[in-house]
Amino acid sequence: MLRTLEEQVLKQAAPAALKNEFAQHDFERLHGFCILTYMASLSIWLTFDLIVSFPGQQGFTFYSMVFLASLLITTIVLSFTHRARHFQWINLLFVLIIAVAVRLVIEGLPMDLHPVWLILGASSILYSASVMPLRRWSFFITVVITWSVLNPFWMTGTSITELKGLIVLAYALFLTALTLYSFITLRQARLYNYLMSKLLLEQAYVDALTGIPNRRAFMASAGRRLKAQPREHEHYLAMVDIDNFKKVNDAYGHEIGDDVLKRIATDIKGVMVDFDYARLGGEEFAIYLAHVAREEVEALAARLCQVVREQPTRPAATISIGLARIEDGDSLNQALAKADQALYQSKHAGKDRYSFHP
Ligand code: GH3
Ligand code: MG
Ligand code: MG
Repeated sequence: MLRTLEEQVLKQAAPAALKNEFAQHDFERLHGFCILTYMASLSIWLTFDLIVSFPGQQGFTFYSMVFLASLLITTIVLSFTHRARHFQWINLLFVLIIAVAVRLVIEGLPMDLHPVWLILGASSILYSASVMPLRRWSFFITVVITWSVLNPFWMTGTSITELKGLIVLAYALFLTALTLYSFITLRQARLYNYLMSKLLLEQAYVDALTGIPNRRAFMASAGRRLKAQPREHEHYLAMVDIDNFKKVNDAYGHEIGDDVLKRIATDIKGVMVDFDYARLGGEEFAIYLAHVAREEVEALAARLCQVVREQPTRPAATISIGLARIEDGDSLNQALAKADQALYQSKHAGKDRYSFHP
């Protein structure tokens, strides 16, 4: 089953809106990880800067303070950032600052060490970026910034024509390809997982035949509303049952019976647009009417009976409705039982009508 769903997800391209939704979700999940990565990068840079400044006798300069402050501020800004869109730019800024800061530290080392240390600096930045919740464009710009600032052939006296330069170039190419590949693959895998869980969630909470919410969805949403305090107005619960549905099935077959079910689900959706409704199972539906007055409930129930009764599509059908006011302290199951009793009254009184639980 998982394989079948997976194939379904893998086959179709995700629309842009869904990709944006995923990007936001991905960022929220990895927000703490991003802050930790920034703090670790900052600490590692500071350690090297201190080594070069003191044992390396270069002195702790004003520039070091500026970079330290900038990196700290960017990290603090990140901790207050909650939009994936904004993170893309903050990350580019952080990469730019730390790349320049790394170059500055390396400038304090003997010249022949420059190319190797520039490569090490670039690989640290690229590896970290490859596991961050970045968009593709943002990662590509990260690669460009990293190599522009930490270019091991710029002002290092190293040339591609000599052995050292050739080795540095080969490693830079390998590193770029590897981090690009892992970034794209990891991101794709996370996107598929997200799409899969969305699809599974949808299937778990939607009735397959009618496309409206199912019992599980109803119990969750109505349960939440039932608990919400304080209540501005009364809450009501409605149970809806199709009249003589067995006869429809017997006379026209199960398939036409299914069509009637779908039709009535659409009617409920149309009339009860502002409320939580669901197919509980079989030919029974439930509606949770929150913050309504008794007169409104009556009007809605009468309207629903009328809409179903007057449907021009054949075979004709009618419904019976049972209504119960939710009292303080009622559980959802107690309220459902009351509505069911009221439904029984509607059936007993001749069907195609609504009744209130006394
Ligand atoms: P009443 O007016 O008293 O409700 O009579 P009824 O015939 O509707 O009640 P009953 O509970 O005896 O019959 C319900 C029928 O609903 C029985 C079953 O075959 C049918 N049914 C339940 N689920 C489905 C479904 O998914 N599709 C179809 N076509 N029929 C269903
Ligand atoms: Mg029934
Ligand atoms: Mg019935």
